[in-house]
Amino acid sequence: MNRIEGKIALVTGGARGIGRTIVEKLASEGAQLVISCDMGETTFEQENVRHEILNVTDREAIKELVKKIKEEFGRIDILVNNAGITKDAPFVRMSEDAWDAVINVNLKGVFNMTQAVAPLMTKNKKGSIINISSVVGLYGNIGQTNYSATKGGVIAMSKTWAKELARKGAQVRANCVAPGFIQTPMTDVLPEEVIQGMLDRTSLGKLGTPEDIANAVLFLASDESSYITGQTIEVSGGLAL
Ligand code: NAD
Repeated sequence: MNRIEGKIALVTGGARGIGRTIVEKLASEGAQLVISCDMGETTFEQENVRHEILNVTDREAIKELVKKIKEEFGRIDILVNNAGITKDAPFVRMSEDAWDAVINVNLKGVFNMTQAVAPLMTKNKKGSIINISSVVGLYGNIGQTNYSATKGGVIAMSKTWAKELARKGAQVRANCVAPGFIQTPMTDVLPEEVIQGMLDRTSLGKLGTPEDIANAVLFLASDESSYITGQTIEVSGGLAL
C-alpha cells in the first residue's frame, strides 16, 4: 500500500530497534525517501532509504543535515523523533550525569530536531511531527526519574507545537506515540522478573513488537490522521487499565 506516497520522512534513532522498523515501514508505504539518522552505522535494503550519521545533541550537525535535505527536496513532510536512551537509578542515588545525559538526548534532542525541521513544514504549510514518548511519561516508573521526565516532557512539547505550528492555517500536526513494553535491545537487557512484572500489568499479556509502534506512527504520518493533533496514542496492550 502507499499510505504516505511521495513523502519525505526523517526518522531519528533509525539504526535499530523501534526506529529501524519505523524507517522500513514508512519506506514500504510509498515514501519518496526515508532518511534514517543515528549515531550508529547501518544499511537498509530498501532503495528509498538513506542512512546518515547524526547525534541529536549536535545542533550544528542537525542544521547541516536539514539544509542538505532542503536543498535537495525543498521539504520534509514527516519527522519522527525516536532516538532515546535510558540511564536508570533510584531517584535519591541518580547522578547528575545520568540526569543530564537522558535530558540531552530524549528531551533536548527532540527540541533540537524539531526546531530545525519545523520551519520547513510551516513554510510548506503541511507536516506531521511524531514524537516517541513512553507509558512511563504518563504513569511514572521506579528508577526512571530522568527518563520519565523526558517522556512526559515530549508530550507537553507536542501539545505546545500542535498549537504553535498550526497558526496561519498551516496543517502542521504534532502527536506522540507512547509505547508500553516493547521487545527491543532496550528491553532485552532487563531481568526476567522485571519482564514478568510488566506482563502481569499488561491486559493483553504479551510484550509489544516494534511493528505495533511503527503501525501507529504510520497512521499519524499519513493523511488518515489529518484532523488529529496534540494527541498521544498509547500502544501498550492495555497497560494501566
Ligand atoms: P534502542 O536502544 O533499541 O534504539 C535507540 C536508537 O537510538 C539506537 O539506534 C541508538 O543508536 C539511537 N540513539 C541513541 N542516542 C542517540 C543520539 N544522541 N543521536 C542519534 N541517535 C541516537 O531503543 P528502542 O527500544 O528502539 O527505543 C526507541 C524509542 O522508543 C526510544 O525513544 C525509547 O525511549 C522509546 N520507547 C521504547 C520502549 C521499549 O520498550 N523498547 C518503550 C517505550 C518507549
